[in-house]
Amino acid sequence: MIEFNDPYLTGNEFHYMKKVVESGHLSGNGKYTKLCQELLQKKYGFKRCLLTTSCTSALEMCALLIDIKPGDEVIMPSFTFVSTANAFASRGADIKFVDCLPNLPNIDPEKIRSQIGPATKAVVVVHYAGVACNMDEIASIAKENNIYLIEDAAQAIDSYYNDLPLGSIGHLATFSFHETKNVHCGEGGLLVVNDDRLIERAEIIWEKGTNRAAFSRGEVDYYEWMDKGSSFLPSELLAAFLYAQLEEIKSIEEQRIGIWDNYFDALIHLQESNFLYLPVIPEYASNNGHMFYLTCKNKTERDELIEYLLSSEVKSVFHYLPLHSSYYYKNKHDGHALPNSMKFADSIIRLPMHMSLTGKEQNHIAHAIHKYFIPE
Ligand SMILES: *Cc1c(COP(=O)(O)O)cnc(C)c1O
Repeated sequence: MIEFNDPYLTGNEFHYMKKVVESGHLSGNGKYTKLCQELLQKKYGFKRCLLTTSCTSALEMCALLIDIKPGDEVIMPSFTFVSTANAFASRGADIKFVDCLPNLPNIDPEKIRSQIGPATKAVVVVHYAGVACNMDEIASIAKENNIYLIEDAAQAIDSYYNDLPLGSIGHLATFSFHETKNVHCGEGGLLVVNDDRLIERAEIIWEKGTNRAAFSRGEVDYYEWMDKGSSFLPSELLAAFLYAQLEEIKSIEEQRIGIWDNYFDALIHLQESNFLYLPVIPEYASNNGHMFYLTCKNKTERDELIEYLLSSEVKSVFHYLPLHSSYYYKNKHDGHALPNSMKFADSIIRLPMHMSLTGKEQNHIAHAIHKYFIPE
């Protein structure tokens, strides 16, 4: 069976983790947490990085930081992972789900405009498959309306909008280091704070609502309860694991892009014959090789193709069930149709994408897809 994912190890993870154990400092915000944060700040020009236990918890920090309260509205795409919405809904926000573009599952800026009202507090964008949303347009909408811009960049590490790193554009941004992402530590995440006004509070929220981070820098004599917060920081063991991965981010990405390009070349003839569509990467966006997905013509073909691949020993997956039509939200949604989100939910299939995938396996996968559409 060719697996959909196979978490990659660089080989240095256990070496760094051993050093942590030997140092006697295993809790969070130690040497490796700082190394990871400084590496990311330097490399991408992020103002302040805080490692978190997941992208979900980083999104929850965003909701606390911008003081989401019942009645606030947050605009975001429906075609995304549940955490994008749950973090804000859990603090009482009304989520205004909007549609994505017809040719690419990123939020449609015009649809953002149509949902802005007096209660709008923030817009959250998702760079699907690590491919940038149209950030000039979205940033100017946020600025004109004086609302927060938050990037759910869970899939977008080392990806760019023109020459700007994703995660450096919004007031806040979040990344995931879940084992399915390009670099990982099993479960992990990152909050990026680009707005100076939010940095001090972000540290407090991160450290259980206390000023412990300032205390550990020697800036205050003791630490105490300052604000809302929770335990958002990961153990040094996870930070050490992650640091090994971050050191190799370029070579990991190059290999993933190589796999991505192989799929593209092997399947382009099926797009030319109108059997399926390959991913679109706009001129302003880079590709970080996070995901290779196909868009089928309809749900029947998509579901059949997944089954067909399974019978050829290939695991492929689909996602997302649009959040506006989910069990939890369908009665809260205002009822407007989101046809592009529904279309992608019905027609996307994600192919195996991981570092141990061989050229031979990729040929097998491409051949199986070919055979499904053009039986011999
Ligand atoms: C993976 C992912 C998340 C959740 O990340 P965790 O680290 O598992 O919490 C959130 N949003 C998007 C778009 C994702 O792809």
